[in-house]
Amino acid sequence: MRKISVPRWRPWLAAVLLAGWPATWLQAQPATTEAARTGPALPGLGDGGDMTLGEERRIGDQIARSIYRDPDYLEDPLLDGYLQGIWRPLLASAQARGELPPDADQRYAWRLLLLRDPSVNAFALPGGYLGVHTGLLATVTSADELASVLAHELSHVSQRHIARLLTQQSRQAPWMLAAMVLGAVAASKARNADIGNAAIVGGQALALQNQLNFSRDMEREADRVGFGVMTEAGFDGRGFASMFDKLQQASRLNDDGAFPYLRSHPLGTERIADMRARLALEPVAQGRHGVSPALHALMAARARVLGESRIERLQALAQAGRTNAAPLRDPATLGLRYGAVLAAARLRDAGTAQEQLSHLLAGQPDDAQARQALRWLALEAMLLMQRERLAGLDLARLRTEALAAPERAALLLGARAASAPPDARALDNASQRLQTWLALHPNDAPAWQALATVAQQQGQSVRAARAGAEAQRAQLDLNGALDRMKSAQALARQQRDGDHAELSIIDARRRELERLVREQYCEERERRDPVCKAD
Ligand SMILES: [Zn+2]
Repeated sequence: MRKISVPRWRPWLAAVLLAGWPATWLQAQPATTEAARTGPALPGLGDGGDMTLGEERRIGDQIARSIYRDPDYLEDPLLDGYLQGIWRPLLASAQARGELPPDADQRYAWRLLLLRDPSVNAFALPGGYLGVHTGLLATVTSADELASVLAHELSHVSQRHIARLLTQQSRQAPWMLAAMVLGAVAASKARNADIGNAAIVGGQALALQNQLNFSRDMEREADRVGFGVMTEAGFDGRGFASMFDKLQQASRLNDDGAFPYLRSHPLGTERIADMRARLALEPVAQGRHGVSPALHALMAARARVLGESRIERLQALAQAGRTNAAPLRDPATLGLRYGAVLAAARLRDAGTAQEQLSHLLAGQPDDAQARQALRWLALEAMLLMQRERLAGLDLARLRTEALAAPERAALLLGARAASAPPDARALDNASQRLQTWLALHPNDAPAWQALATVAQQQGQSVRAARAGAEAQRAQLDLNGALDRMKSAQALARQQRDGDHAELSIIDARRRELERLVREQYCEERERRDPVCKAD
């Protein structure tokens, strides 16, 4: 039987321990409703201890670089697009409220990293990176609940809690701290393979966590600031309270591992009381954010299926659409069927995929966002099962539609479809659109990767190699990117017929990468190295 591997080791686990959401959010906290109104007395805005934004960012980059290499890092343009639709308004709201430190929009990465993991978790990392587990997306019942979690984490970053923690913890150079934290977890990798030593690893993790946990005041501040950010962004503040309820309920039931930190960190009733007091004072904002409940249900189902690697679980998800007799337009039913199509397509079970997709298309949801999502699902299912027709829909037509659509997810899906099977016109179209997109979004690694694939299919191996190098750079692997750019250059010289414009671009990019590699080397050595002193 086919097996989709699920590596259990997480090199960036330390980062989670720095800022684990349930771990810190679920702590029992004595709080008063007074604190809900005024907030705790903490250092002022932008105070990150001794750590500058640049230093914090470098630690974050180092951790993010490890996450990008993790096999459980999930690059899914559709889920990413959905998350961005919630994240961007939160960020804009934080900015409008003056919650961000000066320069934060340039100095922080503000990138969301999605992880294939069924447990309910989200975590803030140094430098403006945010990790989100598929399990969180799959568990929340509304965009408002998801927004409450992201706003809480955003506030840990914006209030510089992480910088303060790191400053408190170490007199070491910041890069050393990141290396130390990552190294401690890397050391647990070998031991982790041995089940008998799991307790030892757990013990170390716990020790690390106790040193680096957010304080109660920080948690309360993240609740208070996060609530303001979220409601001003147009999300319903009651999402915060229902998220608390959800966690509390989970803590009453036996912990089945889905809420991993629940046992040791129960949610305090005082904190819930704080939130209720806040809700009583705020007018309810409802539905201003424009995310439809139907779209949320589809994306939650998507996260459930993509977060799953066990064949038998995928089979169960593929069959789940069959047993439900609820009205088709009910969001939960739409979600079940959407998940069934995607799970069946991943299993190459064309019969089930076809049947469930036909049901979905027959009962078109009222909502335009959800209807569009169903068309992209059909295209994706065809790509996964290598079919050119499914449930009365045609791959070529959907491909054209995707390549003409404005959103990034459609562009990347259309580019995938351009080479399966290769179609010259679609490849040209995809190549042009990707170039335009990348001129505006040069750090979009998956788009560079898509361009590399498209260029390869077009027989442009030099351009493909350069795009591949840019993809590695965008995922912060500078050395890997430089190596690849050098091979692109060698290839261009070898081919001779490579056009001059392309060659000079490659040359300029190689120099730029060399400069960045050297800069990184010197930053990490704090210019103590003779090579760096020469500057
Ligand atoms: Zn927190």
